[in-house]
Amino acid sequence: MVAKGEMVYAWTTNADLAKKAECGGAVSALLKFALESKTVDAVLAVKKGVDVYDAVPVIITDPKDIDQTAGSLHCGTLLMSKLIKKYLNGAWGKKLAVTVKGCDAMGMYELAKRQQIDLDNIIMIGVNCGGTVSPVLARKMIREKFDVDPEIVHKEEIDKGQFIIEYEGGHKGISIDELEEAGFGRRSNCRRCKMKIPRQADLACGNWGIIGDKAGKATFVEVCSEKGAKLLSAAVKAGAVATEQANPKGIEIRAKVEGAMFKLGDKWRKHDFTALGEGKERLTKIVKETSRCIKCYACIENCPICYCVECSTKKPYLVAPGELPVNFMFHMIRFAHISDSCVNCGQCEENCPMEIPNALFMHSQQVEMEKMFNHVPGVSMELPVLGFAEEPTERERLANTGSDQIFDNVFNPGKN
Ligand code: FAD
Ligand code: SF4
Ligand code: SF4
Ligand code: SF4
Ligand code: SF4
Repeated sequence: MVAKGEMVYAWTTNADLAKKAECGGAVSALLKFALESKTVDAVLAVKKGVDVYDAVPVIITDPKDIDQTAGSLHCGTLLMSKLIKKYLNGAWGKKLAVTVKGCDAMGMYELAKRQQIDLDNIIMIGVNCGGTVSPVLARKMIREKFDVDPEIVHKEEIDKGQFIIEYEGGHKGISIDELEEAGFGRRSNCRRCKMKIPRQADLACGNWGIIGDKAGKATFVEVCSEKGAKLLSAAVKAGAVATEQANPKGIEIRAKVEGAMFKLGDKWRKHDFTALGEGKERLTKIVKETSRCIKCYACIENCPICYCVECSTKKPYLVAPGELPVNFMFHMIRFAHISDSCVNCGQCEENCPMEIPNALFMHSQQVEMEKMFNHVPGVSMELPVLGFAEEPTERERLANTGSDQIFDNVFNPGKN
């Protein structure tokens, strides 16, 4: 039996799966076991499409097919949470197991607190995440920095701070720091990300902290919930997964790496936000950059916080239809509705055809909102700032006091 809070080394007992898996194969073995034991009706995971730059989300109901999803795809910049809302009816009425990175898990919480997905029906198998590389930039990086034709690369991995590729006739690794100095490497939102070990998931799995004879052969699993403990215990009992206590030195190393990643995230936040400037300067930059917008709605379609049936940006009295450049009100609406809850997943930037750094803009606002209201999105079921305010009460208070400080009564009760 494993209990919530425990940290173990875990590995699959299936030799074929072990060969395909990233390290210990515990994630794939757990997903397979969840299907076999009928704990869930389906699994949502990611498999390699036509090449290493093509990460494809896939729904699996036959346990035999889980093998296709083993391994990590570092160019897999997709977001699992919005897929559950859009294509799987929010998991209402169906039990689902899903592999989640930090941003996926954060998106899950934001959707769940808005009642758009049913977390009770979802088992989240978290994977630690150092970052993902945009597929388009990855190809360019491999051609220009590695001097290798991206078409011949059949494997990529991130290990000990290096991006490593394997191709016909050899392999090469270059440090991520060097790549990022040259404008390549991880997506900019990933550089700023501080959700490295997704403890909101039921289990948080990774390779940090695996040392000794299990190095490269086991998955480090932190048990984050009773649901996670139950699944892992049952999988061990059924012989699908084997475990041993995590090496205390390994636990220490993992904590140190996580701490170093936090510092790196802070460094990039400072770098990116300082470059944006403050106040009027920041606003001017945002207005200028967003003037390229062609109102394709990809940012809204892919954002885990945007789910409204009637989107305000489509109201002709707010944003005039058929007008280019798009009125800045389009972007103002998104800032007003989302910035308190943005999880910095990068989808609005990744999918923007006009290469507008939308995630940077929204994340910079979110960080300010967090300072003002202490609300941290994506980590708990706590309601966002807007969720606290009862509109009629708030309007009445503003009218009675002449105040223009919205939400003051929530965060400074008794002030007015
Ligand atoms: P496997 O049994 O091989 O299963 C891997 C699972 O990950 C599968 O379910 C697969 O569908 C899913 N997956 C693959 N790519 C993606 C993706 N892009 N998005 C969502 N799910 C995906 N661990 C660390 O300790 N430190 C890190 O810095 C780190 N960075 C990572 C970055 C990325 C992009 C990913 C996907 C994983 C990262 N991991 C990291 C986790 C690690 O690579 C393994 O996934 C984890 O140790 C589980 O190993 P396993 O052998 O049990 O997984
Ligand atoms: Fe990983 Fe964070 Fe980037 Fe998501 S935002 S892919 S969790 S580094
Ligand atoms: Fe505009 Fe880009 Fe959003 Fe499309 S994705 S609506 S171009 S900001
Ligand atoms: Fe993700 Fe962009 Fe939405 Fe923020 S605004 S949650 S970065 S899609
Ligand atoms: Fe809803 Fe606002 Fe997003 Fe439109 S922009 S979907 S109204 S949150």
